Amino acid sequence: GRFGLPGRITVAGLGISGISAARALAGLGATVTVVDNGDGDAHRAKAAELAELGVEVRLGLLSDGARAGEVLPEGTELVVTSPGWQPQSPLFLAAAKAGVDVVGDVEIAWRLREAGRELRAARTGEPEPAPAPWLAITGTNGKTTTTQMLASILRAAGLRTAAVGNIGTPIIDVVTGEEQYDVLAVELSSYQLHWAPSVRAHSAAVLNLAPDHLDWHGSMEAYAADKGRIYEGNTVACVYNVADRATEELVEKADVEEGCRAIGFTLGAPGPSMLGVVDGILVDRAFVENRHKNAQELAEVGDVNPPAPHNIANALAAAALARAFGVAPRAVRDGLRDFRPDAHRVAHVAEVEGVTYVDDSKATNTHAAEASLAAFGPVVWIAGGLAKGATFDELVQKSAQRLRAVVLMGADRALIAQALARHAPQVPVVDLDRTDTGAMLAAVREAARLAERGDTVLLAPACASMDMFANYNERGDAFADAVRELAAESA
Ligand code: ADP
Repeated sequence: GRFGLPGRITVAGLGISGISAARALAGLGATVTVVDNGDGDAHRAKAAELAELGVEVRLGLLSDGARAGEVLPEGTELVVTSPGWQPQSPLFLAAAKAGVDVVGDVEIAWRLREAGRELRAARTGEPEPAPAPWLAITGTNGKTTTTQMLASILRAAGLRTAAVGNIGTPIIDVVTGEEQYDVLAVELSSYQLHWAPSVRAHSAAVLNLAPDHLDWHGSMEAYAADKGRIYEGNTVACVYNVADRATEELVEKADVEEGCRAIGFTLGAPGPSMLGVVDGILVDRAFVENRHKNAQELAEVGDVNPPAPHNIANALAAAALARAFGVAPRAVRDGLRDFRPDAHRVAHVAEVEGVTYVDDSKATNTHAAEASLAAFGPVVWIAGGLAKGATFDELVQKSAQRLRAVVLMGADRALIAQALARHAPQVPVVDLDRTDTGAMLAAVREAARLAERGDTVLLAPACASMDMFANYNERGDAFADAVRELAAESA
């Protein structure tokens, strides 16, 4: 086939990444079929659009009564997955049985790097020297933030870049699009890594490793193995978290190019081949240009937004990847200063009667909530939602000393209440026993009543939001609205 891809390709799912894959592949001359089990109006409208590009779409039940996603279309030579499809989906099992490769959108983007370059060269007459290298980031928490920080640093260095992968414009569109890039900052989820066997990053980082999504991967070992794929074939640096031994083990297991270095990041003083923090300064002992110095100062802790410990770790990881790519210290500092985190990630909402209100609605698992609780003094903690099979004992044990009080809501709040009763019986707990949307205002009022001057009221639910809200954005907005209402009343 053209551009090294087979001619007949089946795409699973009419989501954003599936549609992007179908369009790009059809545009390159492949015969594309999209299968999706849905068949509502929205699906039909998308199918009609794709049909105009010559893409066949099979929806819902097929004439023989099977679901579209259960049957491998005849002649399929490659199957492209979409996020959300389980690895045991009948379509993928059928493909495996037929000896047909199954890959994700990231793998397709990787394989289309040369194609993208040729397409742009044909348009502009100016060939790029080489496809843009990838600096890749994964981890249980902090991926989006770190990827955006990295892009900000690369931009400050004058490089043409984009933050892609699990965020922003679909990665296939970026790789095959009109824009030229010098380097890409690529966020990769464990799912994407699972389905991307041949991606080879210039350098990559695993930020941390805690149990999450185990229902999808089957086990912690399988989850770790998928994350560890990110280091395979790295050419310059494998960046790991010194405080998280599991990330270093993944580096040790990885098969990398000769000369590729293991680079650690730590919130403490760095050893050789590490980045770390000394007297409030982010320092680099891994990539020191001046032979007479043994460390290079990069930025101040105060340059990181927000300067919470977990976020300084993210900044060090981003800095390590940028330095591996040859970015100067000054650009690291400027890029960190320019960076603003996305909404609902440890966002300061307001101060009301001496109490600070912070929205970390994006803390959708226990590991994230633990990091954000660790960033604050006495805390009135608002938590609860969908637990996704998590246990809360470790989180409560590690955070108990910081808790002034706890306000619980949402479907699985009893799990948190039980962990609190076991490990922090002295902490007052208000169980709202509510899952309606108005519960957020009630929670904020309760929290305000329990907080003392100088305390922080922190929304860090440690749970997914879908029992009460459409998503974590809506949950965070509800919190901010409630805080503003409280502020208006007290004014
Ligand atoms: P991801 O893309 O991995 O979901 P985000 O950057 O969106 O990560 O951050 C999600 C949440 O995870 C944040 O709101 C914060 O609570 C927490 N978090 C961010 N960075 C870290 C980190 N390095 N370690 C632990 N928790 C973190």
